[in-house]
Amino acid sequence: MYNFQSSLEYAKQLDASDQLASYRDKFHIPKDKEGNELIYLCGNSLGLQPKSTKKYINQELEDWANLGVEGHLEAKNPWLPYHEFLAETMAKVVGAKPIEVVTMNTLTANLHFMMVSFYRPTKKRYKILIEADAFPSDKYAVESQLRHHGFDDKKGLILWKARKGEELANYEDLENILATQGNEIALLMIGGVNYYTGQYFDLKRITKLGHKHGCVVGFDCAHGAGNVELNLHDSGADFAVWCTYKYLNSGPGSLSGCFVHERHAHNKDLNRFTGWWSHNKQTRFNMRHEFDVLPGAEGWQLSNPPILSMAAIKASLDMFNEVGIKKLNEKSRKLTAYFEFLLKQLGEDTIKIITPSNPDERGCQLSIQVKNANKELHNKLTESGVISDWREPDVIRCAPVPMYNSYQDVYHMVDRLKNLI
Ligand SMILES: *Cc1c(COP(=O)(O)O)cnc(C)c1O
Repeated sequence: MYNFQSSLEYAKQLDASDQLASYRDKFHIPKDKEGNELIYLCGNSLGLQPKSTKKYINQELEDWANLGVEGHLEAKNPWLPYHEFLAETMAKVVGAKPIEVVTMNTLTANLHFMMVSFYRPTKKRYKILIEADAFPSDKYAVESQLRHHGFDDKKGLILWKARKGEELANYEDLENILATQGNEIALLMIGGVNYYTGQYFDLKRITKLGHKHGCVVGFDCAHGAGNVELNLHDSGADFAVWCTYKYLNSGPGSLSGCFVHERHAHNKDLNRFTGWWSHNKQTRFNMRHEFDVLPGAEGWQLSNPPILSMAAIKASLDMFNEVGIKKLNEKSRKLTAYFEFLLKQLGEDTIKIITPSNPDERGCQLSIQVKNANKELHNKLTESGVISDWREPDVIRCAPVPMYNSYQDVYHMVDRLKNLI
């Protein structure tokens, strides 16, 4: 499909014809001590800072300085409805309707709040299924939910494991688990894009399968949001959560996104934890009103949110809105295919890419196993100016992010890796 070549000249040509190349200049690229730009391939862990973020945050600092409490209504972007300014673009980014998304809390907290509503175990149907190499926080969260409801967290947790000698989870195995234990499983909670292997799951297929067996289905899309076209609404998933500091470039520890499918939007009977921000906006400040929950994902908010963090999210989302997730995806596919092409030149007996080779089953991240490598190799790679991420026992994760990474970034990464092995 692509006719890639392995020269630096060719990488320069790709950059020269890249329609999104100018977006790199809209980000702060970290530099080494000599002032050379680092090869930053770690947007899957912490996205880079858009240069516009400062302006967005300063606007809120100024309005706070000048207006004090009046800023709730009088700020240029009034704080009271500030989360609403994010809903439309956030919905587009994850393929949802605005009523289905809200930005609130942090990721693991949202995962718990979603389980308060969507993990409703009974004596017979109480188990939770996750993928075997789920992100640790997610595993801890579901284990604690099992204990919270009085169940044994070992008996109650079902792992969807890759087969012996394989790295990727297999749908047939999931079907088998559901065929044999489906009636005991209350919840399927899967990482939409697995953080370790970079495998992008077929959310619709998993949801259909889970629903067929009477399970609730939720996804943690921390590695999907801003990276792949998630189509959350079409997937039919009951809920999803994600963070905004990875591919969504909103700053360390920034707020999380949350999706609740439209079919639950008006169900006031769902068990949930509530606060004044879950309450009807018209009567929220009457303070004595009987609780009246907001429809849609907004109805899961608890608190008035941190505006400074939301301002950073708005700065980033405005860029996503400008570029569009489709264009990003196009570049992402090409950039990652190019990365894969170069890595394969190193020889398949030296390097193994555990991420699926099918572009529909991955985002931009490639997880690379280097034969006989240990953390020392990764340290040297870092010293050479490549920022990537090491996961025990032997995987280097690299994410060329289409918004700000160049083809030359990818070229230089592989070139430096080659010199080290
Ligand atoms: C990054 C990530 C987290 C981190 O959770 P926080 O609550 O934001 O600290 C959790 N789960 C997954 C799948 C992640 O990728």
